[in-house]
Amino acid sequence: MRLKGKVAVVTGGARGIGEAYVRRFVADGAKVVIGDVLDREGQAVAASLGDACQYVRCDVTSEAEQGALMDEAIAHFGGLDVAIANAGLVDHGSIMETSEATYERLMAVNVKGVFFTCRQAAKRMIARKTRGVLINISSIVAILGEIGEGCYPLSKGAVGALTRMLAVELADHGIRVVAIGPGGTRTAMMADVAPGSPRRKNIEMRTPMRRMAEPEEIAGVAAFLASDDAAYITGQTIYADGGRMVLNLNMPPRG
Ligand code: NAD
Repeated sequence: MRLKGKVAVVTGGARGIGEAYVRRFVADGAKVVIGDVLDREGQAVAASLGDACQYVRCDVTSEAEQGALMDEAIAHFGGLDVAIANAGLVDHGSIMETSEATYERLMAVNVKGVFFTCRQAAKRMIARKTRGVLINISSIVAILGEIGEGCYPLSKGAVGALTRMLAVELADHGIRVVAIGPGGTRTAMMADVAPGSPRRKNIEMRTPMRRMAEPEEIAGVAAFLASDDAAYITGQTIYADGGRMVLNLNMPPRG
């Protein structure tokens, strides 16, 4: 129960890793408001958690809707201690072939959406003198070269930069700003990475732990970062990647 008494907002919390943050935070004693555009899924997650969780429709590309999401957390649960900027879209293909419309959509959700979550949550934390935590969701591709992910890595690189800059800007308010950079994690976003597929084999060969992450393993990192155990961590991205970023070349075959 290390998050007992905390109130958290999770964008994109209706499914995937976002849902795992929601469930882990509630299990650790927090109250959680989900902001998402998947109403049916979001309402079902909230209903399964009873009074500890609420769903609010929120398109993260709208700063007004994100402000209303934060206000709802304060009105319903009496505060705002943690905001997880998790909502995100994936991209495929080459940067050379990415259309302007695709670029705009991806950046609107993955960068502007995170920027609005941070700004709207921090405004309220400052006004309420809450020593809160902002947790942004990046990816290993923020700093690794990849092929076939379009502008997705570019958007995640921006999340890392925003995290560093805001950590400095908000430190005097006692607000910590951190990020998590997951490696490949088993969610709908990775639905095309089926067991046995060439892409799956490639990930397994490039990962010392030889498997993708489970959403709950990423949620554990968020619970730590949100807690007072991480009181001296700000500005950092924690890469939960099964060892992928420290591996040179490929893993040898087993045995
Ligand atoms: P997912 O597609 O299962 O979930 C994403 C959630 O974001 C969905 O609930 C979706 O409705 C929501 N969302 C999308 N656009 C939105 C908008 N405009 N407003 C509000 N909500 C919106 O994906 P996931 O795998 O759970 O990914 C969650 C986060 O983790 C993303 O930021 C993703 O980039 C990041 N990530 C995922 C992986 C992975 O391998 N799955 C790896 C690294 C980083």
